[in-house]
Amino acid sequence: MSETLVTTETPARDARASLLHSLVAQSPALIAIRGNDGTYLYANEAFAQILHIPAESLPGRHEDDVLRTAGAPRVLRIGNGASAEVTHSEEEAIVGLRSRRFLITRFPLRAGDGEIIAAGMIATETGARTGTIANPAEYAEARHAELLHALEQMERLAYTDRLTGAWNRRHLEDAALLEMSRAERHGHSVSLLVLDVDHFKEINDQLGHAVGDYVLVELVRCIRSDIRRADTVTRWGGEEFVVLAPDTALREAEQLAQKLCARVAEAQLSSARPVTISVGVAEYHSSEGFEHWLARADRAMYRAKDSGRNRVVSDPYSAFASDGTRLGSSPVELVWRDSYRSGNARVDHQHRQLFEHANRLLHAVISHAPRAEVLEAMEVLVEDITAHFAEEERLHDAIGYPARVAHAAEHEHLLAQATRLFERARQDTELPIAEVFQFLAYDIVAQHLVGADRQYFPYLETPPASAAR
Ligand code: GH3
Ligand code: MG
Ligand code: MG
Repeated sequence: MSETLVTTETPARDARASLLHSLVAQSPALIAIRGNDGTYLYANEAFAQILHIPAESLPGRHEDDVLRTAGAPRVLRIGNGASAEVTHSEEEAIVGLRSRRFLITRFPLRAGDGEIIAAGMIATETGARTGTIANPAEYAEARHAELLHALEQMERLAYTDRLTGAWNRRHLEDAALLEMSRAERHGHSVSLLVLDVDHFKEINDQLGHAVGDYVLVELVRCIRSDIRRADTVTRWGGEEFVVLAPDTALREAEQLAQKLCARVAEAQLSSARPVTISVGVAEYHSSEGFEHWLARADRAMYRAKDSGRNRVVSDPYSAFASDGTRLGSSPVELVWRDSYRSGNARVDHQHRQLFEHANRLLHAVISHAPRAEVLEAMEVLVEDITAHFAEEERLHDAIGYPARVAHAAEHEHLLAQATRLFERARQDTELPIAEVFQFLAYDIVAQHLVGADRQYFPYLETPPASAAR
C-alpha cells in the first residue's frame, strides 16, 4: 500500500501543489511574505515588478531597505505581523508618475502551535478593471478571499501527510529549526521523540494493507489526543513518527514517551492483534544540527527495539560526536546535585567520589593527557566502581532490600561493560571517547546512580547501624 501511495498519489499531490504555486506566482495580485525579522521570505512576480527588482532577489532582503529606494510605493510595506490581525485597507501610491489605488490585505502567518512566524500581504489595484466591474472594491475583496484560500490549501498540501494528516518531514524540519533557535536564544529545552510501530510488517501481512493504513491513522489520532497543544506529530516515513516537544527537557519527554507507549498499547488500535510502539527520546543539545539530534533519538528508538520493543529508551546528553570531536561549549563534567543524595552518608560519599573520579577521567581524555595517565584514571575508576558496588550489595543484604538480586545483576552487567571498555582502551590506539563518556555519564551516573539506586533509597530510612556505618 505504501508503494501504491507513492506511485499514484504523490504525483497528483505534486501536480496540485505546483498548480497552486503557479497560481500565486503568476497572479496579477501583488503577493509577498516577510519573516519576523523584516526580511522577505517570498514575493511574486507582480510584486517584484512594481519595485523593478527581480522576484528571486527579494528573499533575504529587508523590506525597509527595499522600500527606501526611489520610486518604491511605501504602501506596500507588510509591516510587523507579530501583533497584527488580518487587516484590509484601501491605499493610494504614486507609481511612476501615476497615482494608483490598491486594496491591501495584511495577515499574520502562524505555525502549528499558533505562534506568528511571518506576515503576508496581498494587494490588488482597485482601479485596474473599471468599466467591466460594477464594484471594484467588492471584486478585489472576493479575489483576496480566493487567494487566501488557495494559499491556505497550498500550505496544507505542502506540509502534511495525506494519509494521516500528520505533518510531513519538511514541516518538521522548519519547525525544529525554529525551536532550535529559540532554545539557543532563550535557553529553553526542546525534545524529540521517534516512534516506530512494532512488527508493523506483520500487521500488513496478516490483516492487509488497508488495516495497516487504518492503524496508522488511528495511531496519529491517539498520539494527538495525548500531547500538548504546542507538541506536534510528524510522519517521518512509513510507520515511523516524530513528536517535537517544545519547552520539554529529557525527563519530561521520557514521561511523555512512557505515556504514549502505554496509551497506544491500551488503545487496541487493531481488534485483531495488539499494536505497540517503540520510542526513542533525545533532548536538543546546544550547537548540534537537526540531523544529529534526530539521529540520537533514532538510535535510542533502535535500542528500544533491541531490548524487547513496546518501550522507551532515551539518548543521554552526549557532548561528543561519534568521531570523538566535542560538540557545543558546555563544560564536560558530571555535576553532582543535592537531589542525588540518598540520605546515607556513606553511600553519598562514595557516589560523590565516583563523580569526582569520572570527571578526572573525562578531563584526562579531553585534555589529551598522556595515554598512561588516561589508562590510570580509567583503572582507578573501575576499581572504585567495583569496590562501591560490592559495598552497596552488602548494604542491600543488611537492609533486606527486596530487589537486591536484580540490582546485583545490574552491577555485574555494568562492571563487565566497564572492563570491556577498559580493555579496548588499552589495546586500541584510538580511545573510544564518545563511548567512555556515554558509559560514565549515562550508564553509570544517569541510569544507575541517579536511576536504579534511587529505588533502594527509601529502604535506607532506618538502616541498621552496622550497614550504614
Ligand atoms: P520493527 O518492529 O522492527 O519496526 O518491525 P516492522 O515490521 O515494523 O519494520 P519494517 O521496517 O520491517 O516494516 C515496516 C513495514 O511498514 C513495511 C512497509 O510495507 C510498511 N508500510 C510502510 N508505509 C506504509 C503505509 O503507508 N501503509 C501500510 N499499510 N504499510 C506501510
Ligand atoms: Mg521500521
Ligand atoms: Mg516498525
